[in-house]
Amino acid sequence: MSQLNPRQQEAVRYISGPLLVLAGAGSGKTSVITRKIAYLVKECGIRAQHIVAVTFTNKAAREMKERVGMLLRGAEGRGLTVSTFHNLGLNIIRKEHKRLGYKPGFSIFDQRDAEALIADLMHKDYGGDDGVEGIQAQISSWKNDLITPEEALQQAKTPQQQTAASVYMHYNRTLKAYNAVDFDDLILIPVLLFRDHPDVLEKWQFRIRYMLVDEYQDTNASQYLLVKMLVGNQARFTVVGDDDQSIYAWRGARPENLAQLKEDFPNLKVVMLEQNYRSTSRILKAANTLIANNPHVFEKQLWSELGYGDPIRVIRCRNEDAEAERVATDIQMLHLKQGIAWKNFAILYRGNHQARLIELKLQHHQIPYHLSGGTSFFSRQEVKDLMSYFRLLVNPDDDNALLRVINVPRREIGPATLEKLGTYANQRGVSLITACGEMGLAEHMEPRYLERLQRFARWLEGVRQQCMQGDAIAALRDMVSDLDYENWIRQNCSSDEIAAKRMGNVWFLLDSLKATMDRDETGETTFEDAIAKLVLRDMLERQEEEEDADRVQLMTMHASKGLEYPHVYVMGMEEEILPHRSSIEADTVDEERRLAYVAITRAKRNLTFTFAARRRQFGEIIDCLPSRFLDELPQEDLEWEGTEDVPVEQKQARGNSALADIRSLLGR
Ligand code: ATP
Ligand code: MG
Repeated sequence: MSQLNPRQQEAVRYISGPLLVLAGAGSGKTSVITRKIAYLVKECGIRAQHIVAVTFTNKAAREMKERVGMLLRGAEGRGLTVSTFHNLGLNIIRKEHKRLGYKPGFSIFDQRDAEALIADLMHKDYGGDDGVEGIQAQISSWKNDLITPEEALQQAKTPQQQTAASVYMHYNRTLKAYNAVDFDDLILIPVLLFRDHPDVLEKWQFRIRYMLVDEYQDTNASQYLLVKMLVGNQARFTVVGDDDQSIYAWRGARPENLAQLKEDFPNLKVVMLEQNYRSTSRILKAANTLIANNPHVFEKQLWSELGYGDPIRVIRCRNEDAEAERVATDIQMLHLKQGIAWKNFAILYRGNHQARLIELKLQHHQIPYHLSGGTSFFSRQEVKDLMSYFRLLVNPDDDNALLRVINVPRREIGPATLEKLGTYANQRGVSLITACGEMGLAEHMEPRYLERLQRFARWLEGVRQQCMQGDAIAALRDMVSDLDYENWIRQNCSSDEIAAKRMGNVWFLLDSLKATMDRDETGETTFEDAIAKLVLRDMLERQEEEEDADRVQLMTMHASKGLEYPHVYVMGMEEEILPHRSSIEADTVDEERRLAYVAITRAKRNLTFTFAARRRQFGEIIDCLPSRFLDELPQEDLEWEGTEDVPVEQKQARGNSALADIRSLLGR
């Protein structure tokens, strides 16, 4: 406790009522949460099993568990819940599945599954899937606002809204028929459950005696409601957040949520932290100056004692290729000359597509790196195949999973057969697998096709029985060899080497499943739970990394939240990239400014911005304008590079802002 400053200590010790810690980046908000968990257990006698901490990503949850693990000894920490909102929701649904009317082993549909299903429903109902993305977004936002399909239908005014609402209705019914929930349901279903069943809520309130929430500014309406319900009248909770780091408005989070808290909990205590322990004063000054351009509900001032620090570099590059090359060689040089470990560098960018070039350059220079998102383990073909088999084994009614694997490897079940099966299942209102077993199906197709379907269904049931009864992992290994999956992969790969790698992924997946089951000390984790966890991790970790080896870290600015690195590169500081073109059009540049603020405040010692003067876009070379955010930074703290070729007379004519030089060079 002595390592914390007085304000932080106050935040840790205050447990008699609701508490909000409102503070800027790097001021130790997350540290307060970890310390407070230890304090609650050690000093207040609250057992770890009664404490729930919610963080934003799996990675953050893992880190927090580790940190708490260092503060608590063995048994003291047993039963502690540190999870994401979605994991918490999943746990609640799993424990209450009976009352909710789900069979155990229900499936979780991710964004892509959901989109495929919605498109499918639209085809059936409207003969086309135009605008499926918009409808999916609308459904998702209804769910986040706790609006049921019935309410959506009632409220719909325009024909588009009516269409969306009726798709929503159909979609929800189908999910239920599949014994599946989607991502938004993981929050929505528990909230509705608690609203309608006070006795269930009471049970959970009794179990959760203290709740802590990190990155509170990014909770949306339904997540907030979940917290509010779980903490109940006792309101024993601590939330920490920074309104300037709210970057998920597109998922329903609003900086104003912080103000809402004060209204809902009039006795809310607010603690502000102002000392930053992460960055040099110069980096902080840049962050403070930038964010001052946004309107503020709360005024905060951040200061640091870590010295003024090096100037912030702004590097102009000829084009995007030169930009990536520059960043790669810069890192290599620092690594070689100053012996800085690779993992101390982070490269941040606005969108995943920007990663490709820098990845190539890092590979070229043999710099080890880790990319979060993009080509994640779970997005590999073979992993998706296996996961679909797993999903089907725990929930045979999962039609999406069935369609994905029914011909992997080939079973000579053609599209016409599947179509007939689908129509029949639809008429009967049953899942595809159930339809395979019904007598009536025989009227709709030739016996040899029917036989193929039934053979598949029997085979699946056999594997399922084995998984449920005995050693599930051994049964799955048998399944992989029974499928002759290795051969299938080899046929679909250009070289044996690639095939071996892909098979390696298959075994790795089985090992992870085994590890998930083994890790549980209580021995309660069933095969079904382990799959559910794996599926959820797959979804949540698409943006996250697994290992913390010595590698340069590549990630989007969104994914960098809460993290810190000694050396940070922010690439593509250009108009239409940051701020993003869509935000300029929609007039939501403030949110992009917060994103830039998040990126800047990840840096501990060195911060480098790069931008390209020209860039290829949609096959065309276009001139780029430096980001307005560069303009908004304290110019005296910036050191410009790559602007030497700007003619002197132009420089003088345009004043001393280097930005003006570049703009004039580009003739704008
Ligand atoms: P963000 O807004 O980016 O999530 P945060 O407010 O959660 O940041 P932390 O990550 O908790 O900040 O802390 C930032 C850094 O400061 C960490 O390296 C942490 O270990 C360190 N730190 C926090 N409090 C103190 C303290 N009292 N003394 C020294 N170091 C501290
Ligand atoms: Mg934090």
